[in-house]
Amino acid sequence: MHPQTLAARFYEVFGAHPTFLARAPGRVNLIGEHTDYNEGFVLPMAIDREVRLVGRPRADDWVRLYSLNFEAHAAFRLSALQRDNPPGWADYCKGVAWALQQAGYALHGFDAVVHGDVPIGSGLSSSAAIEMATIMAFQASNPEVCLSPETAARLAQRAENEFVGVRCGIMDQMIAALGQVGHALLIDCRTLEHTAVPLPKGVAVVVVDTGAPRALAASAYNERRAQCEAAAQMLGVPALRDLTPEEFEARRTSLPPLLARRAEHVVNENARVLAAVEAMRANDIHRLGALMSESHMSLRDLYEVSSPALDAVVEIALSTPRVYGARMTGAGFGGCAIALVDEAQVGVFIARIQYEYPRRTGLTPRLYVSAANEGARWQPFTPPSSIPTHRAILAHQPPAEPPLCAERGDSIFREIPDPETPHWWWCRDKRGRRGRVHERFFEEEDYRFVLREDFCAQELPLSVGEWVMLIEAYDGWALVENAHGERGWVPERALVPATPPR
Ligand code: ADP
Ligand code: MG
Repeated sequence: MHPQTLAARFYEVFGAHPTFLARAPGRVNLIGEHTDYNEGFVLPMAIDREVRLVGRPRADDWVRLYSLNFEAHAAFRLSALQRDNPPGWADYCKGVAWALQQAGYALHGFDAVVHGDVPIGSGLSSSAAIEMATIMAFQASNPEVCLSPETAARLAQRAENEFVGVRCGIMDQMIAALGQVGHALLIDCRTLEHTAVPLPKGVAVVVVDTGAPRALAASAYNERRAQCEAAAQMLGVPALRDLTPEEFEARRTSLPPLLARRAEHVVNENARVLAAVEAMRANDIHRLGALMSESHMSLRDLYEVSSPALDAVVEIALSTPRVYGARMTGAGFGGCAIALVDEAQVGVFIARIQYEYPRRTGLTPRLYVSAANEGARWQPFTPPSSIPTHRAILAHQPPAEPPLCAERGDSIFREIPDPETPHWWWCRDKRGRRGRVHERFFEEEDYRFVLREDFCAQELPLSVGEWVMLIEAYDGWALVENAHGERGWVPERALVPATPPR
């Protein structure tokens, strides 16, 4: 959601203007699945879906939050943190406060409006995103809190493990903290050493949310972990990370067949991550794609954590021209798959998934084309900037934010001036729809604001694959014009640059 929209909601809820914007991204893991708890390697990338918080520091120890995803308030005192039962969304924020206090920081609170467009519970780690965004909000509100990204990631993981009570590795928080534009991050889960690795040019990473529930995920996850620990013990190594594929092959007969299959996946997957890093550095898209697909086959056949829905996405992807590789990502049994797709082929790939996947599975996929984003950060709340005009194609459907629409004589509610464009105001109509309206359209009458002309805030009904011209963009939102000369705002990430049709 546009920070200005968040700011308008903040004003509505708290009666003041926010002074900072804190944000943190979700992530996908390009390769290296089920290697983290075997002290091996992972290669995640931060996506351009984020949790954002606009806020304002407080002088006392209260934190007051309003979640736009849940349309719910939460308030707590830093001196009396208590987890809800069962844990709710605010517990991720409380957990972060708890972890910071455990690390010795005396904190002031803040007021904030929170919104995330990282899909919740789809395996793109919205939880790490809200944790890291909250840490950024505490940094913005407490100048003495100045953490390295690694420390911030450790504290966020501690919040999730010990306060919320969810067992998770550190990959999600590390990438949410350390993401770099255009790069994935190689993380050694034993030492937490990390290196940014450039993504190859000319390809897009497309995330396909299968829409399938992750039914068996928790129990299967614990079972696989136990199997790996048993295999490492039988092989006489501290963790499966300590074996090369050759060493493992020489000793595999000392394992029962099931454990041998599990261990084979982990050992080879670690090797594949390192090979993928080499391929990325050499801009070898074909090799990278092949490694991703091998990873999927191994997760499907040896580790047995795939599902018919994930397999269907991978099969459709691999039968599409110029899709270089595809695999499930995350723990498995539902959640998301990713595909490495030629940039010029993204529209075709999306269309194929949208057509074929529901036919095969009866499920509706959700698609996200994502560039590699930067990690968590905060900034003073600042005005927008413009970017150069270019052409683009709409890659996925923008979220519906109903625009203000009203007739002459209707009352409208004037909220706050749009700080970026003089004479434009954020307003709501009688049905609660919001939009920016130029002040020439309304006048004050008996303390009401009344429209002088019919007015509809600009919002384009665009469909995926439609060609649009980008007029201007700021802060993640783009003003686009369609073939009929109609203009409207869409999230910038809904667009992929593309050559116009002849
Ligand atoms: P995921 O795979 O998305 O990380 P989790 O179950 O680990 O799924 O975390 C999801 C939880 O994180 C949500 O149920 C909610 O409590 C919290 N959360 C995620 N995004 C938001 C958000 N935008 N606002 C408030 N809470 C959020
Ligand atoms: Mg999570």
